[in-house]
Amino acid sequence: MENEIRIDPRTNSTVIIAPNRNKRPSDFLSTKPAKKEGNCVFDRGNEDKTPTELLRIGNPWNLRVIMNKYPELLPNAVIYEENKGIYKVMGAYGQNEIIIDTYQHNVDFEDLEFESHKQWLNAIIERELKLYQMPRIKHVFVFKNQGEKAGASIQHAHTQIMATYFIPDLIKEEFDNYNKDESLFEKMLMNETFLEENDSFVAIAPYASRFIGESLIFSKKKISSCIEMDEKMKDEFISILRNVLKNTISIFGKIDYNLVFHELKDSNFRFHVEIYPRLSTWAGVELGTKIYVNEFPPEEFSKYYKELKKNLKTI
Ligand SMILES: [Zn+2]
Repeated sequence: MENEIRIDPRTNSTVIIAPNRNKRPSDFLSTKPAKKEGNCVFDRGNEDKTPTELLRIGNPWNLRVIMNKYPELLPNAVIYEENKGIYKVMGAYGQNEIIIDTYQHNVDFEDLEFESHKQWLNAIIERELKLYQMPRIKHVFVFKNQGEKAGASIQHAHTQIMATYFIPDLIKEEFDNYNKDESLFEKMLMNETFLEENDSFVAIAPYASRFIGESLIFSKKKISSCIEMDEKMKDEFISILRNVLKNTISIFGKIDYNLVFHELKDSNFRFHVEIYPRLSTWAGVELGTKIYVNEFPPEEFSKYYKELKKNLKTI
């Protein structure tokens, strides 16, 4: 069976059916043990064990971008769209890539040096530019699963890129809402959920945070994607991202988290990054109703955050 994209008319869910022929039913339950340094395919010296390399930074390399060994979307898939009864089915065309954030096996993303983070952002920009040249690609989604609770199956710090010929539902929904109210971002800057800012970016804890310690970093200038950042903006983005990750970890301890880029190239959209600490598990209410329960108000998070910053200044 080929990979395919199915749209459910009842829930409007987009589902990529990506059969893994190597897995039997009982294999889905087993958890992978953390791999030791040297055995890990993302380490230096194991370059021949990874799929096609797309980008390499540094000599010896500090960062590599490779094709995903287990892609959900395929660059050689047939593009089609058809109705099968009440369902819409689409060809699984697109591309899945992996950024190996660092050659270092045991360093978590948030602990990398500024220069490594800058290389990471430059790699994202370079890959986005390339992927938008692929025929019909409409959206490039960049995301990170840090830690097991965030869905990472490999411990070595990495980021994922998924290029699609459709715009993902949540991005489309946000885009439509921003179009209804151009000043939505400015209005979101409510004082009690403010975290920090610099010349180009501002970080807030969204008023209706779905996750404990959730944060949102958005550009003050209207840019629709990271491709539009100049050098100063890149530095300021990395700087605020580093602060938000470090401060969030100072407050909650070593968290697993997801980090996602929300962007829509060449549109009336505001680039932003969302960070979801995985301190609770989405359960029946979240999954069954899309109602989210958050035990730690964003106002509290912001209060702790400001307190932390005040203490940092006095040291
Ligand atoms: Zn490794």
